[in-house]
Amino acid sequence: MKILITGGAGFIGSNLSKKLLEDGDEIVCLDNFFTSSEENIKELLKDKKFTFIKHDIIEALPKSLLSLKIDQIYHLASPASPRWYQKEPIYTLRTNFEGTLNVLQFILNCKNKPKILFSSTSEVYGDPEVSPQSEKYMGSVNPHGIRSCYDEGKRVAESLCMNFLREYKLQIKIIRIFNTYGPNMELDDGRVVSNFIGQTLLGKSITIYGEGDQTRSFQYVDDLVEGMISYMALSEDFPGPVNIGNPNEITILELAKIIKKLTNSNSKIIFERLPQDDPKKRCPDISLAKNKFNFSPRVDLKTGLIKTIEYFRERITH
Ligand code: NAD
Ligand code: UDP
Repeated sequence: MKILITGGAGFIGSNLSKKLLEDGDEIVCLDNFFTSSEENIKELLKDKKFTFIKHDIIEALPKSLLSLKIDQIYHLASPASPRWYQKEPIYTLRTNFEGTLNVLQFILNCKNKPKILFSSTSEVYGDPEVSPQSEKYMGSVNPHGIRSCYDEGKRVAESLCMNFLREYKLQIKIIRIFNTYGPNMELDDGRVVSNFIGQTLLGKSITIYGEGDQTRSFQYVDDLVEGMISYMALSEDFPGPVNIGNPNEITILELAKIIKKLTNSNSKIIFERLPQDDPKKRCPDISLAKNKFNFSPRVDLKTGLIKTIEYFRERITH
């Protein structure tokens, strides 16, 4: 298979590329390193089956891609961490709206009309009033708050995908990813797992926003990648959206204590202001993914964190 991955140099994109290359696929990675570094694809570039094109998806996709006869597209390009999307909210909206439109228009220009898997997010549920969140829940999003550039950007991108399906019969698959962690996250991208691991390894204080009683459900990246590939392989025309995550829900204070223990750290836990609209709870109902493509996360939190800590330890010392 020839597979195009937008945002392929990012945390999830680079892990997905590695797995697909191991499976024998050819990868074309499109990225502009807006929130990632070249380091993530340094090893992948040594593989002849991996091609990198530096491109901002706000611009129409390069015409040269048409001659490559792409079979599948994983569309991941978007700032993903609150620190990044709140720093560049208009760019985040443009990437999700104009960027997704460009990717869908590229498919219309391809003779073979490749399948597309779009990476949406649990953030479309906003600060949910129900738990766990199933795909039937329509969400509780503040449409003009500081997270709205991301939440509403992803909601409009889902709408674009569904309307291209209705109007042009494209093969669309939408996943809603819940908090995912693992190697190739950026140490300074502000997400909680990379923050806490970085803080403990560097002997800094662990910063909890609010009281630490808000919950999240953390999924190791290998489980997500397996879910994405299984869904893409599903022969049934099923657009979703489908939640992909690990329903093991914990508080942020518990997470801090686990990471402190696993890193043997003496870091102090300190409490800072809770950001506006920070969701109080988040937990996926994954029964749809289980039914449709037998999705079941395998990596428990402790095992995944140990692997992630090893990765960051290596990165900090080299
Ligand atoms: P990431 O920031 O590591 O990767 C995103 C990649 O997209 C980066 O390489 C970045 O440079 C690229 N990018 C951003 N804007 C671009 C543009 N305009 N043109 C070209 N490239 C651009 O984040 P990630 O965690 O790997 O997230 C990947 C996707 O998964 C995103 O769409 C994100 O919204 C979604 N997602 C991730 C999580 C998670 O927990 N990691 C949760 C929900 C959804
Ligand atoms: N968080 C925290 N300390 C940090 C970074 C994040 O307490 O240093 C909290 C944040 O307020 C949120 C949770 O951890 O409640 C998850 O944050 P993250 O940015 O990783 O993801 P999201 O909020 O998008 O789920």
